[in-house]
This record gives sequence, C-alpha cells and structure tokens, in this order.
Amino acid sequence: MVLRQLWAPWRLEYIQGADEQEDCVFCFAPGLDDEAGLVVHRGEHAFVLLNRYPYASGHLMVAPYRHEGAFGGLGAVEALEVHNLAATGVAVLEEVMAPQGFNLGWNLGRVAGAGIVDHVHQHVVPRWAGDTNFMPVLADVKIMPEALEATRRKLAEAWP
Ligand SMILES: [Zn+2]
Repeated sequence: MVLRQLWAPWRLEYIQGADEQEDCVFCFAPGLDDEAGLVVHRGEHAFVLLNRYPYASGHLMVAPYRHEGAFGGLGAVEALEVHNLAATGVAVLEEVMAPQGFNLGWNLGRVAGAGIVDHVHQHVVPRWAGDTNFMPVLADVKIMPEALEATRRKLAEAWP
C-alpha cells in the first residue's frame, strides 16, 4: 500500500499554535451563524463543518456537540450520528465536487496530527489524483476565506 501524505504547511502552523488557543472550535462554532462558523449541517447530537485549515478543498469535520476528548467516550447515539453525518458528507461531496476518493479518519493526540485534542472529531477529506497541487491556491490567505464560504454554501445547499 502506498500512502502519500498531503503537504499542508498551514496545518503545521495551526497545530503548533493550537496549544495557545483557549476556545474549542467544536464548542464555539455551533454558537455562531453558519457562515461565520463554517457550519454545513446541524444534526441533533453532532454537526458538520468545513475545516478552516484543510488538507484538501471540501475537507469536512464531523463532531459531537458535547465536549468529549476520548474516542471511546462517545455514546452510542452520538457515535451513530457522527457516522451517519460522515456518510452523508461523502455523498454530498461526491455530488458537488466529484472527488475520486476519500480519506476518513480520526486524529487522536497532537502527535497524530490533531489540532484540537480534547474534542474528538472525524475528518472527511475528498481526494483527487494529483491533489497535492491545490495547495498554492488555498495557501493564499486572501483567497481562502472566500473560497471556504463558497464551498460551505454549495455543500449546505446540496445537503439532503
Ligand atoms: Zn469542545
């Protein structure tokens, strides 16, 4: 198996700065309006948001509303809803962005790449052949917020 890692330098900067952040984005974002919080869909126990520091365009995260740091600490109802939201996220991304594949995963612990370590969340990352090349576009901080909001709106509108 060949595992090619995406090069996302802004994530390194983000992860290095994460310890200095006081607010948990997964607790903070649901209290904002959808545009400001990059919220794509609000479920009953969990919600979906766009990653502000994406590995790829359309990079979603699914998190429970409850501030829970342990993967095994999710209740059955929460875990099922996170799974179902991730599955719908895959379907919506397929419809809107036509990726050729996906990476779905959980980063547990800072060493594993987690920016927020005390509120578990699942990543849904769409993949295209040669998608490491999207970086020069998204790395432009002036373009990125606009691109994020356009993507958020498209995905929210396509959500069933
Ligand atoms: Zn939290």
